[in-house]
Amino acid sequence: MKTVMIDMDNVLTDGVFKEYIEEFYKIEIDLNEIKDYAYVQKLTKKDSKQFWEFVQDKNFYLEAPLFQDCYEVLEKLNSKYDLYIVTSYLWNEEIDVSGHNLKNKYYYLKERLPFIGPEKYIFTTNKSLMNFDIRIDDRLNNLSGATTKLLFTAWHNKDLSKEELKKKNTIRVNSWKEIEDILL
Ligand SMILES: [Mg+2]
Repeated sequence: MKTVMIDMDNVLTDGVFKEYIEEFYKIEIDLNEIKDYAYVQKLTKKDSKQFWEFVQDKNFYLEAPLFQDCYEVLEKLNSKYDLYIVTSYLWNEEIDVSGHNLKNKYYYLKERLPFIGPEKYIFTTNKSLMNFDIRIDDRLNNLSGATTKLLFTAWHNKDLSKEELKKKNTIRVNSWKEIEDILL
């Protein structure tokens, strides 16, 4: 059975970082205008301490829906592949409270994707430590080493050209339906 690494943030769900920044600053953010992966750090830089205090007790995932078709497609993939959810949980700005984030991620996955057991969750900041046949992630660097590399479209990778992706043997996917078409 082939192994599949599935990223969590911006692949299974969005979390609500954006909403917290909007609430903190009383502004509206259009992700279509943002190209930087680390936009949260950038936007909150001058109030970093206060912002991380503001979010530290919040559960980013409580009301975050899974992306469309994610549940159904994963359920089908689960009978054909050996699936792993591989996700980082550390907030470098507020490392001491990152444990909350890990706990929130754990219960979110357990509740929303009950057919994937907790033994298939891998919490790590270094996805290159492991080998997988297939990788699905919104960050190009995290796809290295796989035979099949699927880049899930997100605000920060939209500008990567077809040529660049081809060079890296990577296929762009815009939805879970597209993942289904490729893997099933
Ligand atoms: Mg991600």
